[in-house]
Amino acid sequence: MPDCLPSDLVTLRDRVADLARHALVPLRDDDRLAPADRAAQVRALAKAAGLFSLTQAADTPELTLLVARETLAWHGVGHLPGLFGPEAGLLAGIAEPLRSSHLLPLLAGDRRTGFAFTEPADAPRPSWAEVDGDQLVISGRKSYVTGGADADFLTALVEVDGQGPAMVVIDTDLPGVTLERQFMSLDGSHHAAFHFDRVRVPRHHAIGAPGEGRSRALGKISAVRRAIAADAVGTMAWVITLVAHELQRERRGGARAASERIRLRYGDMRIQAYAARATVYRTARAADAGLDVVNESIVAKVFTTEVANQLVDMAVQLVGGEALVSGHPLEHTLRRLRALRLTEGESDTLRVNVARGHLDLGKGRL
Ligand SMILES: Cc1cc2nc3c(=O)[nH]c(=O)nc-3n(C[C@H](O)[C@H](O)[C@H](O)COP(=O)(O)OP(=O)(O)OC[C@H]3O[C@@H](n4cnc5c(N)ncnc54)[C@H](O)[C@@H]3O)c2cc1C
Repeated sequence: MPDCLPSDLVTLRDRVADLARHALVPLRDDDRLAPADRAAQVRALAKAAGLFSLTQAADTPELTLLVARETLAWHGVGHLPGLFGPEAGLLAGIAEPLRSSHLLPLLAGDRRTGFAFTEPADAPRPSWAEVDGDQLVISGRKSYVTGGADADFLTALVEVDGQGPAMVVIDTDLPGVTLERQFMSLDGSHHAAFHFDRVRVPRHHAIGAPGEGRSRALGKISAVRRAIAADAVGTMAWVITLVAHELQRERRGGARAASERIRLRYGDMRIQAYAARATVYRTARAADAGLDVVNESIVAKVFTTEVANQLVDMAVQLVGGEALVSGHPLEHTLRRLRALRLTEGESDTLRVNVARGHLDLGKGRL
């Protein structure tokens, strides 16, 4: 696809591709390394290449982030642990004392956090907080916090009595915070469920003005949706490259690429990937032009993750049973991509949001 990128981004793409090919892929494939050592080496390389600073700086253009993330995924290393530094997320621009106590240690990698949004379906009411003088008293449950078991603090959505929703910083070692369950999902990532029983936090642990919690949470989710979409389109390109290589391999009876039946499938994969990629690039450019891209980010996330799932499924079909053997790159990719259709907003729920935005609120340029 002609990307029509400015020359600095062409240079960035080439630099990231070079780093991936010559340093990150060999690290990914080195079985002798312990996971922690691999992550440390990846982190050092990412820092030297300026990738860490890209995701931590608040003013990095969306197109720059997209090019970096897509290029890494295109080389099959988009998800190496350690590649990107912790991001400020909801704490971006936070004032003292939270800046010193939570944001700076988070960015330095000294403290870890989890995003606590999803609630168990059987909870009698959403997590809530009573105001008691200069404290919030929080009760409720959160069911799916990625990295929660290792988190020093959570940013949690709670309904503050009389004030509306707020994102609140909750230290996980406070009395009343219980880690109820730890579990792993199909893609290999780790999560935790929490119970809050009258947990007391200072009122200044609520981020922003009263009532802003949901819109702040959605702002963060929107950025993560664009990151997921960038990863999805890079992964598609990687899958297509792998399939092309397999199809062109000489076999008894000739390479499969000679068959028209196979060509139809392969051509369709390329058409789908082109459309998905165009969506993501258009969204990044609209964000950099200063437009509110909440709907576009939903489209990019839903469309790219669904296309990516179809593509990897088709890739498995074309490569054959070998692709489902544990350790095959497509087997792992199949598991990883499946989670993306649920995390940061389930596809049909997001479709309903787009419909509601247009039909009920008269919003959205889609
Ligand atoms: C790998 C992974 C990581 C995650 N990490 C985090 C995290 O760090 N923090 C966090 O807070 N959450 C996290 N989640 C949770 C994720 O955000 C939720 O799973 C997702 O938002 C869907 O919510 P749910 O599981 O409650 O499903 P539901 O919302 O219950 O959806 C299940 C099904 O019900 C349908 N449905 C929902 N509502 C209705 C309705 N009113 N009428 C009809 N149908 C309906 C949906 O369309 C869907 O088909 C993670 C999930 C995954 C898979």
